[in-house]
Amino acid sequence: MKDIMPTDGQFAMMTLPYGALDNAVSSETLSFHHGKHLKAYVDNLNNLLPGSGLEGLSLQEVVRRSQGGLFNNAGQVLNHTMYFEQFSNEPHPMSSRLEAMIVSSFGSVEDFRKEFSQRGATLFGSGWVWLSADKEGRLVITQQRNAENPVTDGLTPLLTFDVWEHAYYLDYQNRRADYIAALWPKVDWQVVESRL
Ligand code: MN
Repeated sequence: MKDIMPTDGQFAMMTLPYGALDNAVSSETLSFHHGKHLKAYVDNLNNLLPGSGLEGLSLQEVVRRSQGGLFNNAGQVLNHTMYFEQFSNEPHPMSSRLEAMIVSSFGSVEDFRKEFSQRGATLFGSGWVWLSADKEGRLVITQQRNAENPVTDGLTPLLTFDVWEHAYYLDYQNRRADYIAALWPKVDWQVVESRL
């Protein structure tokens, strides 16, 4: 995916695609998740950046090079930006190229969805489940805790589901697997593939 750059030293709050998660999560969840949680991460990131020595770098570089509070907030801004941008109300099916990559790595699209869903449902505590490409172009599924992002491990992140409780608790309470199932029809596979 392309580098996310600051403007005048500040990272911007991404705009929520209107209606992209309709029928999957409620507008109440979205207003807290985007308007409160992501907003706090963006504000904290912009407050912590001056004097860190990482000013002017892309968000991905800040995530790779930072630790502690700066890492946590930069990671969460990158993770949430990727999460919110990858959904659509309109169907954007997988290209045959991406489908072939998924089949080659996981056996079938159904097997991939099953494994990704299972890794998301079984992640203990707060975190993210990711689909990424490695340097050889193979696709891998990883569980990342808290604010972690696969860019730290040299992977190219393609798709992520947020499994922090704040992403679903108002709508699904403890039923994380139901939230994960509801996200699949909303995935914009053109956005996912554009990150390769
Ligand atoms: Mn979140």
